[in-house]
Amino acid sequence: MFDVEKLVRPGFAAMRAYTPIRPVDILSERFGVPEERVIKLDGNENPYGCSPCVKEALQRYAHYHIYPDPEQKVFRAALAGYVGMGEDYLIGGAGSDELIDLVLRLFLEPGDSVINCPPTFGMYPFCTEICGGKTVDIRRRGDFSIDAGAVKKAVDSRTKVIFVTSPNNPSGNITAEKDILDLLETGVVVVVDEAYYEFSGVTVAPLVARHDNLIVLRSFSKWAGLAGLRVGYGIFSPRLAPYLMKIKQPYNINAAAQVAVLESLKDIENLRAVVRKLIAERGRLFEKLSELAFLKPYPSQANVILCSVSGGRAHKTYEALQKAGIFIRYFDTPVLKDCIRISIGKPEHTDAVIETLKKVE
Ligand SMILES: *Cc1c(COP(=O)(O)O)cnc(C)c1O
Repeated sequence: MFDVEKLVRPGFAAMRAYTPIRPVDILSERFGVPEERVIKLDGNENPYGCSPCVKEALQRYAHYHIYPDPEQKVFRAALAGYVGMGEDYLIGGAGSDELIDLVLRLFLEPGDSVINCPPTFGMYPFCTEICGGKTVDIRRRGDFSIDAGAVKKAVDSRTKVIFVTSPNNPSGNITAEKDILDLLETGVVVVVDEAYYEFSGVTVAPLVARHDNLIVLRSFSKWAGLAGLRVGYGIFSPRLAPYLMKIKQPYNINAAAQVAVLESLKDIENLRAVVRKLIAERGRLFEKLSELAFLKPYPSQANVILCSVSGGRAHKTYEALQKAGIFIRYFDTPVLKDCIRISIGKPEHTDAVIETLKKVE
């Protein structure tokens, strides 16, 4: 008999698990809603799906039995055109989640620390803990802007990485470039997570050419509708990129993901039109939410709207939507009380959400 507790790394027993979202078939089964009636607004996924060209190309592709290119040459060349930076700046990952993990593996030794600015994406503290690092939380201000002064003050000799999300998840606001420049002055590695860049049009990517300690992460999950294929990329200084290339899993961009990215970039005009549609719908959802007295939506530059719910009714609201087959995120943490987060869907999804919310009101 093995004592499993003694075998696993100390700390993992007490570690809190990441709170993931579930796919449609699982939601359908668990909540008894037929799949075609599930309105999934909890994962910031693209309700229009991927480009139809992707599906055709995946069907045509003939080399699924062959390992993909460990150097990602074709992938990086195609990406270079889209990003506007040289191939030597770019490395793909199995989702930007993998790159968050890789970056931390590159810089952290047990006992080192990472600065996190909550409320924000939960993957940073999760990956930090797995690497044996310590998360130092510097709370965002009331308007969800980062407190760059407080972050700088918190930097010490063990601080290895600072995470900034722009636009932020769940609040949707962008981080001012001057704040990022301010943080870069510390000399600590600053990771700017731009998973929602295509919905904001605001980026600090060009700054990577002048700042070796700046890393920008992007994703194909949200705007390009490829969340299920797991593909993202990072923009790194060419002095840093070879280290990531060295420590990554050799075949981390799988063949299907590579095909999907190449086709998406060929069909870029159509994908941009979908993004514009979602941006317009974001405006419409924001207006409609603002009309409900018990809700306070926060302005967003992502494909998601965070809403503060008055009268302690956030959980009730979340449950009422769930009963109607509408799945969103609910937050009740010390840094985010009585809030819900709604991903931008199609117009009919907005209508269904508003109809149910009116009943709650
Ligand atoms: C969704 C999300 C990611 C993860 O993207 P993948 O490419 O699907 O791994 C990363 N960062 C933020 C802020 C996100 O919201």
